[in-house]
Amino acid sequence: MEDTIFGKIIRHEIPSHIIYEDSDTLAFLDIKPISAGHTLVLPKKASRNLFDINEESAAALMRTIRIVTKAVKAVTNADGINVSINNESAAGQIIFHTHAHIIPRFKEDGLKNWNRDFSYKDGEAIDIAEKIRRNLL
Ligand code: AMP
Repeated sequence: MEDTIFGKIIRHEIPSHIIYEDSDTLAFLDIKPISAGHTLVLPKKASRNLFDINEESAAALMRTIRIVTKAVKAVTNADGINVSINNESAAGQIIFHTHAHIIPRFKEDGLKNWNRDFSYKDGEAIDIAEKIRRNLL
């Protein structure tokens, strides 16, 4: 896999505001935050996104997300936290090294989540649920 800027941060070759580090994961402040305390968590082992991450890295990522999310909430006094992982450019991924965004949210902060104007036609939900079940690996 090609190296990314996050590879340089993992190797401490470029500066970042590190929040947490262990042998498998790293968390640091996003350089262009959505709100104060916006933190990125990533597995050190290189993977592009959730489509190729291995189970061990995914588990380590989730462990660190849990630890950091609680600290970010405590410090920012956020009313809630979004944890999101962008997978591929269609989903907004810019840096192709798996990472999760931890974003403090506040009541009436004006940030928009997703539109909810889609609805299934008759039988469509049954069909797609069945297809997804058959593709679980
Ligand atoms: P994504 O769109 O999910 O790939 O998000 C990549 C994130 O990385 C963006 O929110 C950027 O602001 C952030 N980012 C890019 N370069 C750096 C950096 N050197 N230090 C911290 N965050 C960065």
